[in-house]
Amino acid sequence: MSEVRTLKVALLGCGNVGAQVARILIDDAEDLAARTGARLELGGIAVRNLDTERDVELPRELFTTDAETLVKDADLVIELMGGIEPARTLIVTAMQNGASVVTGNKALLAQDGPTLYEEADKAHVQLSYEAAVAGAIPIIRPIRDSLSGDRITRVLGIVNGTTNFILDQMDSTGAQFADALAEAQRLGYAEADPTADVEGHDAAAKAAILASLSFHTRFALENVYCEGITAVSASDIAAAKEAGFVIKLLAIAEKVQGSAAGNGGEGVSVRVHPTLLPREHPLAAVHGAFNAVFVEAENAGELMFYGQGAGGTPTASAVLGDLVSAARRVVLGGPGRTETTTGHVPPLPIDASSTSYYIGLDVADQPGVLARIAHIFAEHGVSIEILRQTIHRDAQSNVESAELRIITHRASEAALAATVEAVKGLDVINSVTSVLRVEGV
Ligand code: NAP
Repeated sequence: MSEVRTLKVALLGCGNVGAQVARILIDDAEDLAARTGARLELGGIAVRNLDTERDVELPRELFTTDAETLVKDADLVIELMGGIEPARTLIVTAMQNGASVVTGNKALLAQDGPTLYEEADKAHVQLSYEAAVAGAIPIIRPIRDSLSGDRITRVLGIVNGTTNFILDQMDSTGAQFADALAEAQRLGYAEADPTADVEGHDAAAKAAILASLSFHTRFALENVYCEGITAVSASDIAAAKEAGFVIKLLAIAEKVQGSAAGNGGEGVSVRVHPTLLPREHPLAAVHGAFNAVFVEAENAGELMFYGQGAGGTPTASAVLGDLVSAARRVVLGGPGRTETTTGHVPPLPIDASSTSYYIGLDVADQPGVLARIAHIFAEHGVSIEILRQTIHRDAQSNVESAELRIITHRASEAALAATVEAVKGLDVINSVTSVLRVEGV
């Protein structure tokens, strides 16, 4: 083999993902050099605690707690520490020193992406983050590169494995949310503090990243409407199932045109919420902790990307892909163009989006109730597609009540909210048990 260049790689973090990245860099060094055109030499690994036992046996002399010195002496930096600081400062320092950076840090990108992309542009280096959305699944580069000659109209993603596992458990066993969460924690799919997952925050960070790439406009976390899955009940799941639907937590980014956008032009609605999907929709077949992203583009049509959304080794695959690609560009000279922000489409508030809705109502079992409810829906321009009624008798009071399950045709969020408010005002309504959005119909 003729003399090849050596590129020094600094690794920040040696946890679930970092340890696997270090292993692959060492074990597959020959292959990586052949694919890159340069040797990728692991120059050092920054960690918090030098005495922590690692998942992988690695040379002790590689470890340091001095991350700053490590990044200043690297051609390529891989950030797998997580969190905002010191990750942000180290990434900026690395780029200002001329290193391209690979990261899996969705929380940082959703919060500070625009500043970091600008720093990368200024320093003429690359910032890559395939691992930040849906783990091993190649989705960033397909959207950014493969579909850059098309126009994406909508992205629907199951991008959080924990919530998909919980909803899937509820769907297959009839369990309540709390029991399904406990099972997810027992099996290691949910953390002891599951807030970021079950409240939708993790999915919202990924939605901001997907929307930014898909619509060539920078969207931040504050542009994402977010609703988690804690209020989804076993009876919602059962009713959805009976009507031929499954409930999934979706990250959605879609272009909204015309008057629906509220400004007569166009905008992008970016949101995360529990969503009813027809059982025959490709995303309905995504079970357990798996992830999938469904992309709709004007010319390509419908595309689906499916695979493992987390885990040390699968995520390391995405990190290594970015690293090889960044290294190739260093070898060829220059970072090339990464993302474009020429779209200028405004983010829209949730009120500007429109979908079908599923509404659960607990009502008094009296004559004329259905007609009064249907009248309110019609008054607000929300048309009912499916209405199902189940009668219950309270064993103690012997009072009968009815559970109504309504699925509407597509309606605006504002019209639906007004309808629900008006329905709540009826004396025959005991409670509105759920309001969920439906996609894919
Ligand atoms: P992790 O297991 O918690 O590992 C974090 C590593 O960073 C540890 O080795 C830790 O050192 C080191 N570290 C943390 N703070 C540090 C500091 N201030 N200075 C030096 N080192 C520090 O995390 P992970 O699961 O590998 O995730 C890493 C990143 O990848 C996160 O941004 C995460 O969101 C993203 N990601 C993870 C997955 C996944 O499946 N795990 C999937 C997609 C994306 P010590 O070991 O000494 O404490």
